[in-house]
Amino acid sequence: MAWQLELVLFILGAVVGSFLNVCIFRLPLQQSIVFPSSHCMDCGSPVRWYDNVPVLAWIWLRGRCRFCRASISVQYPIVEALAGVIAVVVCSRFGLTRESLALIVLGYALVVLTVIDLYHYILPDIITKPGIVLGLLFAVMPLLGVTPFAPPFATWQNSIIGAFFGYWGLWLFAWIFERATGKVGMGLGDVKFLSMVGAWFGWQALPFTLFGGAFLGAIVGVLLIFLTKRDRSKPIPFGPYLAVAVFVYLFYGDALILWYWQKFIIGT
Ligand SMILES: [Zn+2]
Repeated sequence: MAWQLELVLFILGAVVGSFLNVCIFRLPLQQSIVFPSSHCMDCGSPVRWYDNVPVLAWIWLRGRCRFCRASISVQYPIVEALAGVIAVVVCSRFGLTRESLALIVLGYALVVLTVIDLYHYILPDIITKPGIVLGLLFAVMPLLGVTPFAPPFATWQNSIIGAFFGYWGLWLFAWIFERATGKVGMGLGDVKFLSMVGAWFGWQALPFTLFGGAFLGAIVGVLLIFLTKRDRSKPIPFGPYLAVAVFVYLFYGDALILWYWQKFIIGT
């Protein structure tokens, strides 16, 4: 892809990224994501249009409000840059297609879910539930005569099984885990998240997402305990690891599963 096109995609993505920041702050508080417009959380001054430039504004304001000098979270430029990168990376892999557009929307939903989970330890229904419905809608489109989405999107059969098993199968798994260990391993939010993954990419995506997410979470959890003397009993949000696992699955899932089978199952 030409670098000019990549730049345009990055800028468009970063602009949407500033909206994602608004969602991240306001959705958990059940505030409107449209009104009022952006303002400083400390002094309430509205953000000037020229200070709304994604990523760069935070740099030239040196992370502080223009009026009261209160610090502005580094989350803003990070989410904006990440949204830009997701647009570029997805289009590089899947082209300028309907599939890419849908995957970018999903990617942005995952970014919002991840950051909200890091702050609040919740994965809000207001994102996961429409996510499940959208995945199912994409999958059943061919039944209405629309050309089906290319893989990694699921066929309608696999999508329905995935959404169903993602929810009930993992709810059962979480319930058994809780009975056996007396600990809450997975919340209902995680279960709905996995149902969404199943609806989009079929039941085949679930083992990779679940075990990949658990593997990543375990590594990071151990590192945090060693490096920061983090309290073991403190909950660790699962959503961010599931989100990373979904992205790894989309880009490298086939190759990783093949490698695993050859190495550990078939033994060649
Ligand atoms: Zn201020």
